[in-house]
Amino acid sequence: MTTVGTLIDTQGRVLRDLRISVTDRCNLRCVYCMPVDGVAWLPRADVLTYEEIVRVARIALGLGVTGIRLTGGEPTVRAGLEVLVRALRDLDPALDLSLTTNGLKLAAMAGVLRQAGLTRINVSLDTLDRARFRQIARRDRLHEILAGLEAAKRAGFSPIKVNAVLMRGFNEDEAVPLARWAREQGYELRFVEWMPLDSQRSWSTERLVPAAEILAALQREFPLDRVPGTDPSAPAELHRYRDGGGTVGVIASVTRPFCERCDRIRLTADGQVRTCLFAHEEHDLRGALRRGASDEEIGGLLKAAAWRKEPGHLINQPAFQQPARGMSRIGG
Ligand code: SAM
Ligand code: SF4
Repeated sequence: MTTVGTLIDTQGRVLRDLRISVTDRCNLRCVYCMPVDGVAWLPRADVLTYEEIVRVARIALGLGVTGIRLTGGEPTVRAGLEVLVRALRDLDPALDLSLTTNGLKLAAMAGVLRQAGLTRINVSLDTLDRARFRQIARRDRLHEILAGLEAAKRAGFSPIKVNAVLMRGFNEDEAVPLARWAREQGYELRFVEWMPLDSQRSWSTERLVPAAEILAALQREFPLDRVPGTDPSAPAELHRYRDGGGTVGVIASVTRPFCERCDRIRLTADGQVRTCLFAHEEHDLRGALRRGASDEEIGGLLKAAAWRKEPGHLINQPAFQQPARGMSRIGG
């Protein structure tokens, strides 16, 4: 039996973008995400199997989901990621299937992932300076990411997006060097505002580098024109280099929230549905999956969760409270 309906919420938003975290584990320790010693990993038995993930994805596709992004933690550290990619691709040849990765393992995996049916790739990189990278990611592995990006290009991924987070006191002056490099390499760069989702709770408005400041720095170097929005649910505000050098984007989740256009729903590695990065409530799917619930029941749980999607985050309001899970355990 198939499920019917769509994932719609009380605000009339239809949720079409499913973000699946395949693991909470990671091979870096970025300062804006994780503490130096990492976080306690989920017990393996709590993590959904690939079969369970594919089942949820199949049901979600039946409910109108059109895009799936695999994330983590670091998704490439989970063994056999290409097997999951192939199984998801087999669900629907038209599925927009993407991956967010720190790029460390792409040199070895980009070709395999592409062949398995991955359509798009986002690589996170916050500096091109080796010493700074070591400071931010707490590992001396910048060269491996650059090799991974090259491998992604060779494998035929296009476009390749690069996501950068800027933090005051670490890499606030990297906007222009990163933009220059991305233009030369043909990568689509997106600056993501630092959000209060770090496990060590060191976020502050003073250390956040706002999108407006990033854009002003870019404008001084490269004249830009705002690209009128094409996809209303896309969070990135895009700007085109006037000299034809492509586009650069900012994702101003904190200073210019786009909650009213958000069409995302998330599945954590341990099978909890989250309808907002900043949600305090989670909806347990793992229990239902493991006690033999039917597709209709799973679909019903997804629909009920979607219906309760938070109208918006409250970061800029006094009532804001950071959620218990950090970004690496939610799936960014
Ligand atoms: N490990 C992979 C990676 O780094 O791309 C995937 C997971 S990571 C949590 C997904 C994205 O979230 C990355 O682009 C990372 O830079 C971003 N991120 C992590 N913590 C963040 C925070 N507190 N605020 C904003 N972005 C954050
Ligand atoms: Fe790992 Fe990604 Fe978090 Fe960095 S941002 S610590 S790579 S999960």
